[in-house]
Amino acid sequence: MHKPIRSIVIVGGGTAGWMSAAALARVAGKTHKLHLVESEEIGTVGVGEATIPPIATFNRVLGIDEDEFLRATNGTIKLGIEFKDWYRQGHRYMHAFGALGRPLGMTHFHHVWRRANALGLDGDWEQYVYNTVAARALRYARPGPQRRTPLEPLTHAFHFDAGLYAAFLRRFATERGVVRTEGKIRRTILNAFNGHVEAVEMEDGTKIEGDLFIDCSGFRGLLIEQALGTGFEDWSHWLPCDRAWAVPCANGGEFTPYTRSTAHPAGWQWRIPLQHRIGNGHVFASRYMGEEQARDILMANLDGTPQAEPRLLRFTAGRRKKMWNRNVVAVGLSSGFLEPLESTSIHLVQSAITRILMALPNDGIDAVEVDDFNAKAQAEYERIRDFIILHYKATERDDSPFWRDCRAMEIPEELERRMRVFASHGRVSRVFDELFLDVSWIQVFLGQGVIPRSWHPLADQLSETELKEFLAEIKAMIAHEMAALPTHADFIARQCAAR
Ligand code: FAD
Repeated sequence: MHKPIRSIVIVGGGTAGWMSAAALARVAGKTHKLHLVESEEIGTVGVGEATIPPIATFNRVLGIDEDEFLRATNGTIKLGIEFKDWYRQGHRYMHAFGALGRPLGMTHFHHVWRRANALGLDGDWEQYVYNTVAARALRYARPGPQRRTPLEPLTHAFHFDAGLYAAFLRRFATERGVVRTEGKIRRTILNAFNGHVEAVEMEDGTKIEGDLFIDCSGFRGLLIEQALGTGFEDWSHWLPCDRAWAVPCANGGEFTPYTRSTAHPAGWQWRIPLQHRIGNGHVFASRYMGEEQARDILMANLDGTPQAEPRLLRFTAGRRKKMWNRNVVAVGLSSGFLEPLESTSIHLVQSAITRILMALPNDGIDAVEVDDFNAKAQAEYERIRDFIILHYKATERDDSPFWRDCRAMEIPEELERRMRVFASHGRVSRVFDELFLDVSWIQVFLGQGVIPRSWHPLADQLSETELKEFLAEIKAMIAHEMAALPTHADFIARQCAAR
């Protein structure tokens, strides 16, 4: 007989813990006992401020008002990520959310652009990405019901203060019945027969029992690894960055509605603008650069006065061999780590929670559900991993041993295949339920210099004059939309004004 799941214990109160608690409270708060344990002494990882669009859905499902959220978290709008010096030094491109141009019949726009490019008509595909044009002009408005053109509306995510977001979700979750215990767990108690976790024991001896445990304890993986020894698959041969210095600085430079990622000789630097400060960090590979040098590079490339001493974080790229093992599900950093190049970690938290909610067992844990959960989580991690590796592999940089090794490294077979398919006729070969859609792959391929040799024959159906008109029409639509957009700064000031 399966043991019914009535009581769920969440171990950890970082972004992963409180996102899990809030979602469970919303969906299962009336039927399940929910308990969260966190330790102020241990604290949280304290980074993780850039997101991708599905976070807006997460907030909506919880019923959180977007303006209230922006106010509570000092949040800003994110329309994409600018990659500076990645393809080659002095070059930049944006991986923007939203559409690239407009499709022509069944064909993606980049086929049309590629043909125009081959005819010498147009070199710059980015001017057809509404999100990119708005981002570069530092403009944003929430799409209203009255659309001015048939262009896809701006698609956004957020930058936010992760500590404030966790605090916001904590209020949300505790108001809906989640019981919070503060203190350090000193040991995990396993059932002698089936090896399931029965309880966690606090330092004062209190035991917190549960039927299902969500391990959100961060890199240490208190339950999934320390108690269950699940194992970790190391991907550092593909993703050698293993350290980051992080430091906030005062606002300075442009108030960008986008994240900036600037490549450095042995890694890259993030710049995440919030309302009250800028989050910065230098992700680097310690095999290629010493910690002090990495710190100096970060401190020399800030837009404002540092607001704290820089903090060093250590990590290894890879994933837990099983994200769900026995009655423990790892969510967040305890489930694995992919560097924040495409801001995917918080999304991985969200999708793990969604999977838990979909598979939430009424009458007990079923091995078939567990296997399915693990297979999906593994596939998701691997596809995001490959997308990140693409940025390192497809580069012309050869100015440092790090970049020379990245260019020369052997990559996962599946990525190799995708790169060959795209380089041939511009087709994106991916499976349907992947996180990154064709439009993301296309922008990163083009931005990293993977230009297809040819294009789809549908793009040849237009005469040269029609082709020029088609492109001009998209540019005109973007210009028309742009004329109505306020600045990002004005948008934030208006939405966050005291009510
Ligand atoms: P943590 O924040 O580490 O929380 C762990 C929790 O477990 C804490 O509450 C701690 O007190 C508790 N705990 C641990 N042990 C015990 C114990 N023994 N007893 C009681 N409690 C315990 N993600 C993005 O989406 N975008 C980004 O831009 C981004 N940037 C990043 C940059 C860096 C350098 C790093 C390292 C990560 C970044 N991430 C980013 C990832 C993001 O920070 C995490 O995914 C997110 O914060 C979730 O962390 P967590 O809640 O799993 O772990």
